Amino acid sequence: MIKVGVFGASGRVGKLLIEDLKATEGMSLSSVFVRNELDFAIDPSVLVTSDMRSFLLGCDLVIDFSLPEACEALLEEAIKHPKPLVVGTTGLSAHQLNLLKQASDNMPVLYATNMSLGVALLSKLVHMASARLEGFDIEIVEMHHRHKKDAPSGTALTLAQSAAAGRGLDLDSVRVSGRDGNIGARTKEEISVMALRGGDIVGRHTVGFYNDGEFIELNHTATSRNTFSKGALRAGSWLVKQPSGLYSIADCLEL
Ligand code: NAD
Repeated sequence: MIKVGVFGASGRVGKLLIEDLKATEGMSLSSVFVRNELDFAIDPSVLVTSDMRSFLLGCDLVIDFSLPEACEALLEEAIKHPKPLVVGTTGLSAHQLNLLKQASDNMPVLYATNMSLGVALLSKLVHMASARLEGFDIEIVEMHHRHKKDAPSGTALTLAQSAAAGRGLDLDSVRVSGRDGNIGARTKEEISVMALRGGDIVGRHTVGFYNDGEFIELNHTATSRNTFSKGALRAGSWLVKQPSGLYSIADCLEL
């Protein structure tokens, strides 16, 4: 039985993780990290703590869906008390991504800005299309619920990275994330990533390849957040069997 620690337990995805764990064979919830009191009932056998060290020692696997600053604090502590770690938090800074890399020297770490099978496959398709559709303009649009804090979404940036890699481009040099005013015509190489926010949209990503006379749009829509919680649990059960290193969702799904 894999003992799972949930970091970000009171969040939208964290709560689903706790629910999904009840029906997951071979895994059980053993610890949750909280800053304040939990606002929902939890089995009394579960360790509920605001002490990061006790939280880490109380589980075999950590699943994190929190915020970048919180994830940073978790990584700093996990470096001292290594545990297999699935990180789903998006919007990580360069420093936080470096910490993730550093942590993976001593434990298996899987980082995925999107835990769904569909997006993992979409990312592959985008790479393929980008490489083959020479001269097509690439535009990415993402839509999320009104509460989402980071923009553009981590998933959109991952898809943009796949598109840039397909063309051998450095994303930071070609990414455009907004257009306003008399900015001139679109350049050939730019890859735009636009963010829309509203309502309760779980997550919608469209990667368009536009040319004169034709265009292709690849779209993924998440209709339930359980796609992410279930995906993270699947990733966790795979990760505990891996040696130290930094893994992607594509590694876990063998795509
Ligand atoms: P949320 O705002 O509902 O939950 C955030 C959680 O983090 C809460 O439990 C909160 O208490 C906790 N938290 C905040 N600050 C903290 C701190 N300093 N220390 C400890 N805990 C802290 O957010 P959400 O919708 O559940 O999403 C969480 C993260 O996961 C976001 O970054 C989101 O973009 C990302 N996300 C990733 C995927 C994926 O598949 N990888 C899918 C959906 C969401």
